[in-house]
Amino acid sequence: MKIVMLGAPGAGKGTQARLISEKYGIPQISTGDIFRANIRENTELGQRAKSYMDQGLLVPDEVTCDLVVDRIRREDCANGYILDGFPRTIPQAMALTRSLEAQGTKIDYAIDVEVPDDNIVQRMSGRRACPKCGATFHIRYKMPAQEGICDFCGTALIQREDDHAETVQKRLDVYHSQTQPLIEYYKEMGVLHSVDGTRNMDTVFNSICEALNES
Ligand code: AMP
Repeated sequence: MKIVMLGAPGAGKGTQARLISEKYGIPQISTGDIFRANIRENTELGQRAKSYMDQGLLVPDEVTCDLVVDRIRREDCANGYILDGFPRTIPQAMALTRSLEAQGTKIDYAIDVEVPDDNIVQRMSGRRACPKCGATFHIRYKMPAQEGICDFCGTALIQREDDHAETVQKRLDVYHSQTQPLIEYYKEMGVLHSVDGTRNMDTVFNSICEALNES
């Protein structure tokens, strides 16, 4: 089962991808998490990605595509995977399609988590992230068991640089101009399923599971 998660930044893709990963036993591949891990380790890739990320811009396609194409060839992806945050541009989607075609396969599901912009701004300003394992929480909607502490690894939560209000609007503009066209791309491929992402986490997850089981 090969799944692409679509939706604006802050729509809850990462949270849903994690739930799908746990339920179906397939890896969640988040390009944002890969970049952040590289920033923490101060690798060359991390240094390159950081300058774009901090401004709310996309990391260039040539950097991102190779990274993902290599990652999905690994052993743990043999039964499928969930791409969370990739593709984010039409050229990235085309590179993915080409790479999969070369292996005689394709994306099975593209799940679009739909959330209006005003809702996104409200969500992202309250989002808190774990700098160690990448898990995300919200000060109102998805509180960790202990305030300010990651449920999964016990690390102190932070507000990501790119979740600050000024950067959020920039990221939404980038989303509308560069990423939203992917909805049409996957619709034409016949694999698109849209879910209303404004509902609570469990309800959204149930809708996604229905889409995955039905088709
Ligand atoms: P995310 O955690 O998915 O919201 O990603 C955080 C940031 O990482 C984005 O705002 C981009 O700067 C960068 N990034 C993540 N995925 C991609 C991608 N597929 N293409 C380009 N940049 C990306």
